[in-house]
Amino acid sequence: MNRRRPSPATRCVGGRAEVDPATGALGTPIVMASTFHQDDPGRPGPWEYTRSGNPTRHAVETLLAELEGGTAGFAFASGMAATTAVLSLLNQGDHVVAARDLYGGTFRALTAVFSRFGIEATFADATDPDALGRAFRSNTRMVWLETPSNPLLHVTDLRACASFARQRGALTVVDNTFMTPLRQRPLELGVDVVVHSATKFLGGHSDLVAGAVVVSDPDLAQQVGYLQNALGGILSPHDSWLLARGIKTLKARYDAEEATAQELARRLADHPAVERVYYPGLPDHPGAEVHAAQASGPGAVLSFDLGSEEAALGVLRAVEVPAVAVSLGGVESILSYPWTMSHAAMPPAHRRALGIGPGLLRLSVGLEDVEDLWADLERALGG
Ligand SMILES: *Cc1c(COP(=O)(O)O)cnc(C)c1O
Repeated sequence: MNRRRPSPATRCVGGRAEVDPATGALGTPIVMASTFHQDDPGRPGPWEYTRSGNPTRHAVETLLAELEGGTAGFAFASGMAATTAVLSLLNQGDHVVAARDLYGGTFRALTAVFSRFGIEATFADATDPDALGRAFRSNTRMVWLETPSNPLLHVTDLRACASFARQRGALTVVDNTFMTPLRQRPLELGVDVVVHSATKFLGGHSDLVAGAVVVSDPDLAQQVGYLQNALGGILSPHDSWLLARGIKTLKARYDAEEATAQELARRLADHPAVERVYYPGLPDHPGAEVHAAQASGPGAVLSFDLGSEEAALGVLRAVEVPAVAVSLGGVESILSYPWTMSHAAMPPAHRRALGIGPGLLRLSVGLEDVEDLWADLERALGG
């Protein structure tokens, strides 16, 4: 009899896939050991030292790999630790082509840290495959993409970029934080490496900082595993358990948050105080069709521009339902101000050139009632 392969929603829950063989407990136990006794020192057992491998971390890494449709997953202490490990695949003299409107911390790692080790980066408009192509050099070894991007939700055609990069012998990396594997599986579109800030939707409760890498190719898996152990930015056993616990409700959270985001985006687009709404679920959003062809939903993050710093600060001071904070993807709505928060690491001229102006607000929609959120936003907007 053919058994149906569990869909990601079912796999997220854990359930029978995570029953502990030793005790029957539902869920993987937290193995808080740094080291493991070796019965036969000539033949090390499956676990030796927690930096190299830990049963709790292994359980969440297996889950991450299955959700992204890869062969190997790696859990890190933060999204930036995951990013650091992936950038460390490069050698001195290599060149990276990166999307222009990248997470601020990734931009900083490339321009202020990896640049010191002789790795150069060119930032290109990834929404235009020709512009991306023009940024390539003979030594380009990696393309770093985010789609939809942060905070303007720009859409990049993943199939086209991954295929172009592959022909030129470069790896394609996608930061899939905004979409999660429930909406977008880059490895299935030809991408080589998926990176996550698991701090956001995967963890989902604003109580964890974590990162993830997933790959399909066995050689690449070996290299990332080597770097995870060599550089040491691992996720702790306790936080690995917390991440798996968060992922159990990913589908329910994401579905509900996305539905509310869709409704708020529509209402904000009609509001006279709002100059522009950025959300891939709006039909006139640039790249909405490309997005729909590679992802199964628009997500739960939207941005809107009020035209001035004064108006943006006014709303940030007036809202009472969303938290005003950095980060996103939690059960609580978070309103943030990219100009001074997530994108402060980018030089002001670069921010302005991208369209990240002082009137822009980013809303990560949580699980609150849509009418409570709207009433609060409408009041704060002065409507
Ligand atoms: C937050 C974030 C990161 C960085 O992750 P940390 O967990 O904060 O280190 C990377 N990429 C995106 C898109 C993010 O939102």
